[in-house]
Amino acid sequence: MAETIFTKILRGDIPCHRVYEDDHVLAFLDINPIARGHTLVIPKEAAASLDQLSDDSAAAIGRVLPRIARAVLAATGATNFNILQNNGAPAHQAVFHVHFHIIPKHADGSGLEMEWNAGQLHDGAALATAIAAHATVPR
Ligand code: 5GP
Repeated sequence: MAETIFTKILRGDIPCHRVYEDDHVLAFLDINPIARGHTLVIPKEAAASLDQLSDDSAAAIGRVLPRIARAVLAATGATNFNILQNNGAPAHQAVFHVHFHIIPKHADGSGLEMEWNAGQLHDGAALATAIAAHATVPR
């Protein structure tokens, strides 16, 4: 995988406003926040997208994501927030190193806005079976 700006942040070549770090995870403020407190949580493992991440790194992120979200809420006074995780350029991923956005939704309306084009589920049984067949494969 090509080196990204987040690899340089992990190495300390580029500064960041660090809010959390352990052996597997780093969290820091987004340089172009869409809301005050907008924080990025990344694995130290260099994986381009979430489907390529190891189970160990996924577990390490999952363990601390709620804790960092609580910290963002406590520090900003927000009580609502979104977790955003983009994979692939058409899905709005710009930095190809896995990252979770924690985005507070503030009373002034700042935060994540989205269009949600809900449809109807037609082939639920067949689709669930097809997905379930792959869902037990660890990485
Ligand atoms: P994506 O669209 O890939 O999900 O989001 C990438 C995020 O990384 C963007 O919100 C962008 O502002 C943030 N970002 C890009 N470069 C840097 C940087 O050098 N430092 C920090 N702190 N954030 C960055």
